Amino acid sequence: MTSAISIPAPPAEFRAAGTDLSERRRSGLSQGPLIDIAATPNAAGIEWDANGTARIGALTTIETMAIDLRLAAAYPGVAASAQELATPQIRHLATLGGNIAQRSRCWYFRNPHIDCLKKGGSDCPSRDGNHLYGVAFDLGPCVAPHPSTMAAALLAYDAEITTNQRSGLMIDEVLGDGSDGAADHALAPGEMIERIALPPPLRGERALYKRAISRSYAEWPLAEVCARAVITDGAFRFVRITAGGVAPVPLRLSASETILQDAPASAAIIAEAARQASKGANPLPMTAYKLDLLSGLVRDLLERLAA
Ligand SMILES: Cc1cc2nc3c(=O)[nH]c(=O)nc-3n(C[C@H](O)[C@H](O)[C@H](O)COP(=O)(O)OP(=O)(O)OC[C@H]3O[C@@H](n4cnc5c(N)ncnc54)[C@H](O)[C@@H]3O)c2cc1C
Repeated sequence: MTSAISIPAPPAEFRAAGTDLSERRRSGLSQGPLIDIAATPNAAGIEWDANGTARIGALTTIETMAIDLRLAAAYPGVAASAQELATPQIRHLATLGGNIAQRSRCWYFRNPHIDCLKKGGSDCPSRDGNHLYGVAFDLGPCVAPHPSTMAAALLAYDAEITTNQRSGLMIDEVLGDGSDGAADHALAPGEMIERIALPPPLRGERALYKRAISRSYAEWPLAEVCARAVITDGAFRFVRITAGGVAPVPLRLSASETILQDAPASAAIIAEAARQASKGANPLPMTAYKLDLLSGLVRDLLERLAA
């Protein structure tokens, strides 16, 4: 089947495990030359610095991250995100770099016969069309949520990215701010993620991850939350909450964090923090339900962290 729209000639695309790319090749959405990085030496695996920093190679599989006991002990939010992602088959193949850089799951984008901003078009057909799975924080011209579960978890841990062109990039610099409707990340053409560093965990911190999903597995979440907290003497001393599935980029829920900082770990404070999770949201006609999901996820995770 030939594509009904003209897709601009792209630069070469990297292929890691190909779990995202192959589908776009089959449908004709990806047509340019490929650079196969799957066999890049020393690009997979988890290494640890003496100070407890984890350095994760971009070709490390999601399954490796899901089952690594040291990773789970240091960064439980990252490990739990990996454990719940996709299916066992996908997790065994899919790489962390490919997960961060995967393209949007929007059904208009994935349909080779429909034009959209990500294919050089002039508008987002989902905005006035069916956007049931779209954003609830409408931060840019494209209303598709960012697809990467791992990126949302890495944001909670202040992950630092090294590419073949730059080092010391914070994960949010790699993801962008969602205002570029044509892009799913802010990597330059030809820029390859090489590794991801996670700073040492804080003393006494705990973390949890939870997703709301329309079927039990093998699906991207409608909303997902990763929460970290240090609670001492009955009060939140450090809180970091990030959300995926609700905006064109993973979000830090700063209003919730602010409510919790140095506040008692009480049911009332947690309920208020959960309400604040939707601060700044501007849902589309079909996506207000995501704010209820978001609030419920935040409340559930905080109650469990405080228990
Ligand atoms: C049924 C199903 C359910 C899924 N559920 C989820 C989910 O819940 N959450 C989630 O996050 N994902 C989910 N996924 C997506 C899956 O996690 C991604 O397809 C996978 O992580 C991509 O990794 P890959 O190595 O196969 O990347 P590839 O398909 O090889 O590449 C994906 C993109 O990333 C680019 N790329 C790859 N490696 C790099 C690199 N090192 N630097 C720069 N660019 C790079 C490629 O050029 C390409 O554009 C699901 C997939 C399926 C099929």
